[in-house]
Amino acid sequence: MFLITDLVGWAPNDQKYELDSRKKISESFAVLFSELAAQNDVKLIRKILSVAVERDDRMKSAGFRYTDGRLLFQIRNHENGWGSYQSNKSTSTHVVVPVFANGRQLGSVEIHFTPLFSDGAVFSNPTYSWLAIASGLCFVLFLALMLRTLRQIDPSSVVPERVNAAFDSLAEGVVILDDNEHVVLANKAFSEIVKRPVESLFGIKLSELGWRPEDDAFGPEYFPWITAFSANVNRVNDRLVLDIQNDTRTMLVNSAPILDGNQIPQGMLLTFDDVTELEHQKLKLQNTVSNLEVSRKEIQRQNKELFYLATRDPLTGSYNRRFFYEQFDVLFSQAQEENKSLCCIMVDIDHFKKVNDNHGHDVGDEVIKMLAQVLESSTREEDVVGRYGGEEFCIVLPGLHIDEAISVAERIRLQIYRESHKVLPNDRRITASLGVATLADGSASQSELNKQADQALYAAKNAGRNQVVRWEKQFNDQPAEETQSENAQTTDRISLTDDPHHQLEVKNLKLQIRQLEKVADSFVEQLQKEKHYDKVTGLPNQSLFYDRVHQAIERSNREDKSAAILVIEFDSLSTNQSFLEKRISDDVFTQISKRLARIFRKTDAITVLNTTINENCTVSRINQNDFGILIADIPDQNKLPRVIDRVFSGFSEPVQVGENKIRLPFRMGISMYPNDASSAEELLSHALIAKSNADNEPNKGAYRFFNVRRGLAINGTETLVKEKIP
Ligand code: GH3
Ligand code: MG
Ligand code: MG
Repeated sequence: MFLITDLVGWAPNDQKYELDSRKKISESFAVLFSELAAQNDVKLIRKILSVAVERDDRMKSAGFRYTDGRLLFQIRNHENGWGSYQSNKSTSTHVVVPVFANGRQLGSVEIHFTPLFSDGAVFSNPTYSWLAIASGLCFVLFLALMLRTLRQIDPSSVVPERVNAAFDSLAEGVVILDDNEHVVLANKAFSEIVKRPVESLFGIKLSELGWRPEDDAFGPEYFPWITAFSANVNRVNDRLVLDIQNDTRTMLVNSAPILDGNQIPQGMLLTFDDVTELEHQKLKLQNTVSNLEVSRKEIQRQNKELFYLATRDPLTGSYNRRFFYEQFDVLFSQAQEENKSLCCIMVDIDHFKKVNDNHGHDVGDEVIKMLAQVLESSTREEDVVGRYGGEEFCIVLPGLHIDEAISVAERIRLQIYRESHKVLPNDRRITASLGVATLADGSASQSELNKQADQALYAAKNAGRNQVVRWEKQFNDQPAEETQSENAQTTDRISLTDDPHHQLEVKNLKLQIRQLEKVADSFVEQLQKEKHYDKVTGLPNQSLFYDRVHQAIERSNREDKSAAILVIEFDSLSTNQSFLEKRISDDVFTQISKRLARIFRKTDAITVLNTTINENCTVSRINQNDFGILIADIPDQNKLPRVIDRVFSGFSEPVQVGENKIRLPFRMGISMYPNDASSAEELLSHALIAKSNADNEPNKGAYRFFNVRRGLAINGTETLVKEKIP
């Protein structure tokens, strides 16, 4: 304001006054000095000037100068102070007062003034200093006044204390905004959420507190209160995240516009609900739930596994007998109640003992597994297959009529035959017999139906095996063994359809198939026999014998047992061969082989070894004159001499040849694994060497053991030919 008045010219002007005053002094001096000059009183002029310069601080120097420029006198160092100024006109610093005498200018008095304020520093100007001081004072006073006034309009003090207390008692953060999004009220809970004192929040923009939407899709500039304000709508449960002091809080925000009388929003009422803990708990709960789900699945899996183990046969994976019966029972009752068809098939492998005997239990197990696979693959999902025991299986076929069940059984029978060579050595095959029964034949219980199928199976066995037999009433009246004669045609008993023509056709076809199968079977058997069996005696030949020796050695290694080979040569036969008729010699060999088989199979000769002779003993004709006997799995070698004893006593009886009886002298060599040999070849060759050394045995008529290159030789010449062949 001062400056404005100054600019307009209303403010008092010191410079002007100063100039005026200097002008006045000059004019006074001009009049006074002209008077004194007229009186020629230069001295007084000088004195007056000298006093004036002395008294007046503004005057720096003074002097009198003639019009020609000479200085008459000077007060203080006027010559220098005045400088080169030569004009007759006065300035603020150089004042020239002309002095006249008698109408003529004598010269002029020069007064050198200090410069005016405007010529020097601004702040040396007292007006400005005054202005500055006055402004400073005004500022302080106004500030005090403003602060007091602002305090008067502070919303927190405007809002009555009890309203504040009510807001503060709320657990949710409450904020009231004005129409520019400035906070005009915030309660304690909100200040705790944003970690700032309540007072510091007033007047700030709410969106500047560091919020971000939880869902990134909204972008960083999303604030629900702004949207709610501009749309003039209420919003609930908007999720915002607040990152503050290394902490992240999740908020549920409710926004409601505060309306004036014209329903125009004037501000916002917001509530903030901190759900961070809740979210945390929710997450934990979700984790627990998913962990529980994993455990539940694991338990389910284990239950499934337990159920599997409890209901399955470990070898084949088929249902075990107990579970099979349960299932059978359910299907039987269902079929009975709903008056539906139900069939039962019993399957049993033919001569399975031989498989075990000839090829070992491992192969036997493989055959059983193969059988289970065939049964599973030949039946439907709804059929139930169970291992009844050993190599005997039972199948329940719900909904099938007897003719369909017989077809299934036939299919199974063929499939077993086809698949068997895959698990048996040397391309051998096995067959199976099957018995079929139907609920339609009137069985009153599940076990009766089962029994009928079993009876039919036995009928099939008795009828020559490798066939399907349907149960018939008369089976009930006959003992199982007599149900069928060895050569009966089971196809006779298979009723297929009601069309007699068709029936006959199918029957004939089946007959043909069976005959062809039999031919093929016997052909294969023949081939096998020729390959591996001696034609005359039917005993395994050398190659098969070697095979068994190999297997026996492997088993001995595995199970830490011993094996022995006995080689027996019947002396007289080899020498007499030339004159013995082939027919006769064949007969002798056959008798020998039978006797050997009897010794090693039926007698208790081997039971002294505590082994099962059927499975562990192979009698073989290894060449023209030599028989080889393999005894595997010997737990106690000391008992071997007793076995040899049996051989001797077995051959002490003469052999019937035609009408004659002959005694057969023989030599025997024995070799043991692992004592005498380390391989199958060595084992056999050592036994042969031992045998050839039996000749050198000096004590004829007696036998004894002695070691010959790690084998045992026994001379059986005691059994001399008693009755010669004519
Ligand atoms: P058939 O034609 O009259 O049925 O003669 P078979 O020799 O098959 O006689 P059977 O059915 O009575 O023989 C069952 C044999 O199966 C008896 C047993 O040694 C053998 N066996 C039983 N269970 C198992 C097994 O789990 N594995 C093996 N390898 N053999 C078994
Ligand atoms: Mg069997
Ligand atoms: Mg059986």
